[in-house]
Amino acid sequence: MSTRLALLIALLLASLLTPACSVVDARLNRVTESPGTVNAEPSDATRRLHGSLLVADLHTDTLLWRRNLNVRHARGHVDVPRMLEGNLGLVVFTTVSRVPGAQSMPKTTDSLFPLAVTQGQSPFTWFSASGRTFYQAAKMRRFVEESRGRLRLVRTRADLDTFLAARRRGDRVVAGILGIEGAHAADGELGNIARFADAGFRMLGLVHLYDNEAGGSSYGLARGGITAFGRRVALESERLGIALDLAHASAPLIDDLLAMHAAGELRKPFIVSHTGVRGTHDHDRNLSDAHLIGIARAGGVIGIGFFEPALRVATVEAIGEAIAYTVALLDEAGLDGARHVALGSDFDGSVICPIDATGLVHVTEELRRRGLPDDRIRRIMGENVVRVFRETLPAGSP
Ligand SMILES: [Zn+2]
Repeated sequence: MSTRLALLIALLLASLLTPACSVVDARLNRVTESPGTVNAEPSDATRRLHGSLLVADLHTDTLLWRRNLNVRHARGHVDVPRMLEGNLGLVVFTTVSRVPGAQSMPKTTDSLFPLAVTQGQSPFTWFSASGRTFYQAAKMRRFVEESRGRLRLVRTRADLDTFLAARRRGDRVVAGILGIEGAHAADGELGNIARFADAGFRMLGLVHLYDNEAGGSSYGLARGGITAFGRRVALESERLGIALDLAHASAPLIDDLLAMHAAGELRKPFIVSHTGVRGTHDHDRNLSDAHLIGIARAGGVIGIGFFEPALRVATVEAIGEAIAYTVALLDEAGLDGARHVALGSDFDGSVICPIDATGLVHVTEELRRRGLPDDRIRRIMGENVVRVFRETLPAGSP
């Protein structure tokens, strides 16, 4: 989510008619007209490699919009037909539940209220962050039911293994995992974390665009560390098989979570679902070298975003630059760098990306152009995501 959300408010307030939703969606979730290397035709060798990969994306906000995932759309970035065309196999579908009009006014302004009303959502979602979160999970379950087996929802390690086995057999199937952007989704009730787990959520970030009752956001006013409530949410999430997402966390909040991991209070690897790195673009929402190394040392995975300001500029080259930088940094720190980097596009997150889900072959091409060997590309493009979820998901029945 970006500051262009101001545009979303303006557009939505301009009209309370339902068709405005698709106008806003099409306006905010675009593909850039100057995609860089996207203009180059990928080689046959790249296409062969890309076709053999399990490609995964740690962050996609498609559920926010009035769009049927099973139908191909001309607007936005992701749907099942485009996932199949681009060989995007596994996506974490995240839910956004509250977006302030400005950083200082999270309680008094609510950009998603007009969206909830114009989309014709149940009044249950109009004022309640948890209501919006459950609503988006129900939408996802409906898409899965209506997909005739093409779209799976991964809730357990057993689900993940079943999905991967189907892919190995050559079945044309894709899968989603549900995630939450910001623990304000719980409306201050710890009990909602277990309800989220029941609804199928398997990843949660403590914060999103503003400081909330769980901790400080990289876009917040105070940008503090973890709160007592945030600590309980983190422990409860890990207990229930919900991976913790550090995207949008303030630097002190990341420090606090890494300290809890070092102390053995938290044991599972962290995910950073969509981020940039300060080494290629020095911005508040991007990770410092020290945090990249700390998160990787704790076994985690870092999803590189496809948008500004995660990137210097929204091009495929800049995605490759951030990935290559992170891999090299972690290698130099004595880690296996390619074990800890992944894709975290932020598709459909009110961002302009150089590609949509059909264009991921261009990322594979860019990584080859940078000299990364196939086995490292394979892990970065998807296997690291599988590795981490295999550690965080509940086992489930085989
Ligand atoms: Zn985000």
